[in-house]
Amino acid sequence: MMALDLHCHSTASDGALAPEVLMVRAAERGCRVLALTDHDCTQGIAVARQVAQQHGLYFLAGVEISVTWRKRTLHIVGLGIDETHPELQAGLLSIRQGRIERARQMAADLERVGIVGAFDGAKTHCANLDMIGRTHIARHLVATGVCKDVAAVFRKYLVEGKPGYVKHEWAQLADAVAWIRAAGGVAVLAHPGRYPIGKQLMTELLQEFISYGGEALEVVSGSHSEDDNRLFARYARQYELLASAGSDFHGPGEGGRDIGWTQPLPADVVSVCSRFAGAQAALEAV
Ligand code: AMP
Ligand code: MN
Ligand code: MN
Ligand code: MN
Repeated sequence: MMALDLHCHSTASDGALAPEVLMVRAAERGCRVLALTDHDCTQGIAVARQVAQQHGLYFLAGVEISVTWRKRTLHIVGLGIDETHPELQAGLLSIRQGRIERARQMAADLERVGIVGAFDGAKTHCANLDMIGRTHIARHLVATGVCKDVAAVFRKYLVEGKPGYVKHEWAQLADAVAWIRAAGGVAVLAHPGRYPIGKQLMTELLQEFISYGGEALEVVSGSHSEDDNRLFARYARQYELLASAGSDFHGPGEGGRDIGWTQPLPADVVSVCSRFAGAQAALEAV
């Protein structure tokens, strides 16, 4: 295992823990290099950076941008961004707009299948209203006993074809990569094993991503199987992409991996940490 985690969420987006709590948890678990990568916003970064550094973590500012590519939703992580960069901030603002309306629409759809009050309920689980989304609705439906856990809510209500799913147009892939690069960051295709696409489409996606300036692939992810990790290590080598690793931790008991540690990257890929001198040094000191 490796004391590296370049993908996690706080209450600034759909994580269950406040950024300062998250950083303390990571440090207590022995993490050395950490990136906070909230969805479509950077509000958690300032406090996370301060607390992470107080606890001896090497901290990278990050973000996970929601993208619509050929009618599918993809996530692009940006690592080592200047979170104050105006082009990045304007882009993130543009995709946050519409979330509240979407959540209302999801709640209206759920009402038709007998679930009332999902919008107000979701709000009680959401610290940053303009980032309200499916996870907040899911936590509300778990808290009110509609489903046993968040994963079950998604299966029954919140994925395409289910009664609470509302289609949404996110950022363009080219724009998301451009915003990250403008802010000085490295663009990473997040959890590639989660996308239901075959080899041909994955090849087209990687080629397109690279053509826009994408530089890394999340080879190790909390939502990958070990086979996925091996498969995407091969893609990383083939396309000369840097390799990233992250838990995608959202909250205690919400499945996947806890924050702070990831499986080691295969020896024959180049770690994205090689782009951040201090990160490499912090890992070697473990
Ligand atoms: P949204 O941006 O509102 O569409 O919400 C997307 C978030 O929902 C993702 O970042 C995950 O945290 C969560 N999510 C998506 N699919 C699932 C799933 N099948 N099970 C549990 N959580 C999921
Ligand atoms: Mn999420
Ligand atoms: Mn994601
Ligand atoms: Mn994520």
